[in-house]
Amino acid sequence: QAKIQNGGYQFFNESISSTFLRKLDLENELRWAIAKNQFTLHYQPQVSSETGHMKGMEALIRWNHPTLGPVSPGEFIPIAEETGTIMDIGKWVLKEVCLQLNRWLSASFIVPSIAVNLSARQFLAPDLASSIHDIVYQTCCDPQHIVIEITESSSMHDIESVLPILHELKSFGFQIAIDDFGKGYSALGYIKQFPIDILKIDKSFVQELTSDTKSAVLTKAIIDMSHGMDLRVIAEGVETLEQLDCLRTMNCDMIQGYFIDPALSAEQLETLYLTKDEQ
Ligand code: C2E
Ligand code: CA
Ligand code: CA
Ligand code: CA
Repeated sequence: QAKIQNGGYQFFNESISSTFLRKLDLENELRWAIAKNQFTLHYQPQVSSETGHMKGMEALIRWNHPTLGPVSPGEFIPIAEETGTIMDIGKWVLKEVCLQLNRWLSASFIVPSIAVNLSARQFLAPDLASSIHDIVYQTCCDPQHIVIEITESSSMHDIESVLPILHELKSFGFQIAIDDFGKGYSALGYIKQFPIDILKIDKSFVQELTSDTKSAVLTKAIIDMSHGMDLRVIAEGVETLEQLDCLRTMNCDMIQGYFIDPALSAEQLETLYLTKDEQ
């Protein structure tokens, strides 16, 4: 107790404890966030590099806490993964996507596929595939409309256990995308083993596209390889017209990034991008 009076000790103590307490706070608050309706989903359009038409969108979670304010998924998803709350969050996200899809379809909007992020940790649940199946079944949602995004690192982690789950998801009708491609692993062997439909080039490549020849060469090689394997390619993090032009020249199929639009609320996405099926 006496030491806490000491200025130096207290300073040291406070700087450690502020990060520590913030994390503890988030950990605790995360447990109630679903019940308290603090999450929303935003949707980022993915457009054809040729026509600019929307071909898909990615659902991205947003957490607005009454006193902490908005907390970015980059900060809270790793904590949710550590503590296990990601299991419930993951189910909430998928269910919300299914419900949104239903709302749009019943209002006669033409809706392209919606991508949902799956965390590596979710693959550790033995009932992952069946819980995903339950959600689409209960909401009467067509899995053809849904793309499951998995990261290279989560899928490479334990190929033997992930592969059957991916095949099961494919057999339900889901599409599979590899997220953040090029960021972590250099081994390519899994690409031919996995039942993948879409490959997403990590934004670190895109950001160096027009300044670094090697990034450009690699990006072109990734696109050509993907097409050779019948995969569609999405470039992430496209922020400038130069990057877009470059990717278009390289025949990249789809573009996602701030240059097109950031993640939008469902209402914004609807007004800006969706059209009704008039027949
Ligand atoms: P991610 O899956 O790679 O998602 C793309 C991130 O890049 C999003 O950040 C998006 O807003 C951001 N982004 C989009 N365009 C640009 C651009 O032009 N430039 C830059 N610099 N960034 C761009 P966000 O929404 O903050 O999400 C961060 C990460 O959190 C996601 O990365 C994903 O790993 C995770 N995440 C988000 N929502 C979910 C979710 O529902 N479930 C899970 N498991 N993870 C999620
Ligand atoms: Ca993603
Ligand atoms: Ca990504
Ligand atoms: Ca409209």
